[in-house]
Amino acid sequence: MYEKFERITETDASKSAVEVYSYDSSEIKGNAVAVLFPKNSDDVQKILSTAERNKTVITPRGGGTSLTGASVPFDSIVVDLSKMNKIEEVNVRDKTAVVQAGVTIFQLNKDIEKYNLEFPVKPGSHKSCTIGGAVATNAAGMRAVKYGKMSDWVKRAEIIYPGRGAVWSDEKAISGSEGVLGVITKIELKLAEKKNPKSLSVLKFEDYESMMEKVNEIKDRVMSAEFMNKKVASMMNLGSKIILTLEYEGDEGEIKELDEIKELENIRDGVYPTVSSNGYFIIDDPKLTLDKMPAFLNEVEKIGIPCFGHVAYGVVHPCYDKPELREEVMNLVKKYGGEISGEHGIGVVKIGHDEKTELKRLKNRHDKHNIMNRGKIWKTKNV
Ligand SMILES: Cc1cc2nc3c(=O)[nH]c(=O)nc-3n(C[C@H](O)[C@H](O)[C@H](O)COP(=O)(O)OP(=O)(O)OC[C@H]3O[C@@H](n4cnc5c(N)ncnc54)[C@H](O)[C@@H]3O)c2cc1C
Repeated sequence: MYEKFERITETDASKSAVEVYSYDSSEIKGNAVAVLFPKNSDDVQKILSTAERNKTVITPRGGGTSLTGASVPFDSIVVDLSKMNKIEEVNVRDKTAVVQAGVTIFQLNKDIEKYNLEFPVKPGSHKSCTIGGAVATNAAGMRAVKYGKMSDWVKRAEIIYPGRGAVWSDEKAISGSEGVLGVITKIELKLAEKKNPKSLSVLKFEDYESMMEKVNEIKDRVMSAEFMNKKVASMMNLGSKIILTLEYEGDEGEIKELDEIKELENIRDGVYPTVSSNGYFIIDDPKLTLDKMPAFLNEVEKIGIPCFGHVAYGVVHPCYDKPELREEVMNLVKKYGGEISGEHGIGVVKIGHDEKTELKRLKNRHDKHNIMNRGKIWKTKNV
């Protein structure tokens, strides 16, 4: 099945590659047939034309950091974009950049630091997730309260649909498309002037009502407001109270030493790895309005679920050691009128919770044979 692709680009069908690429960062296991490493848009176009002719299922993959099983292949060839990692253009005056889809957020930020610019969307996985993957999941992250999500920073993107040439599309058509339409190959991004947090505060609370009072008071002045519930704080060896960490652009926070700020940022990047290594590796990303947050978090705590997240943006991360707990939390999200997914997308784990009708319409138009990332977002094999 993969032999037809070997002529087009570097291909790895070894036992070890197939094993590694059968997973992403979720608990889901799939079965990769082979892995292709295109180097440019032409390679991708040839891959998708061949796949379309042969009805071969294709799973696009960036950093493989999806937490929903979105980049897990099922009887599918994986197209790994990591070799398409060139920053093609930076326009310092207009604050824009054109990057290939496999560039990581971290790599872009390192490269544009010298111009005092940054790409400000910062998922916890920013060191390994790619811009293409972040667009495809419409990722948000730690600074979403100030900077929003990927769709706020994408001007347009080059996408290749099965059997067609490359087209440039606006952000609406591709943000959150989770690889089910085509392969995103290049992205034109907006950039921001680089702002380092100058100070930080770490606050402790006994209850969510007081924490949210504080969040409402400061939410328009912070770069980020991240919380950990008591269970997470104790896993991180940070005591037994609710913790709220605030990042300020100015010197409003008590912590001003650069080293200490960096250390606290590293602690924040390590929260999910710590929670998951304690057995709570299943993670969700509901979005709630801030007025509903205390009641929701109280109920989550009663069930004994570790939870942390971007609380001022309304996105929090309940984590589970048993899949059954997900349904319980989803029911709470519905009870409080929240959204099932605020940033990770649907993938496999939230199939049936959001029908994504507009995306389905686009899929029917652009991927008639359902070869793109089959088995994601919708259950049916033929959409
Ligand atoms: C420790 C950790 C922390 C995280 N923190 C956050 C967070 O704070 N906020 C957040 O939003 N997410 C977070 N995530 C989830 C994840 O990192 C994001 O969803 C990320 O944007 C995925 O990027 P990726 O390159 O790894 O994509 P992958 O996992 O490789 O793919 C994700 C989806 O995008 C599709 N895709 C990938 N590349 C392309 C492409 N070029 N064209 C078309 N489709 C493509 C795939 O098919 C799949 O459906 C976190 C994950 C981890 C492991």
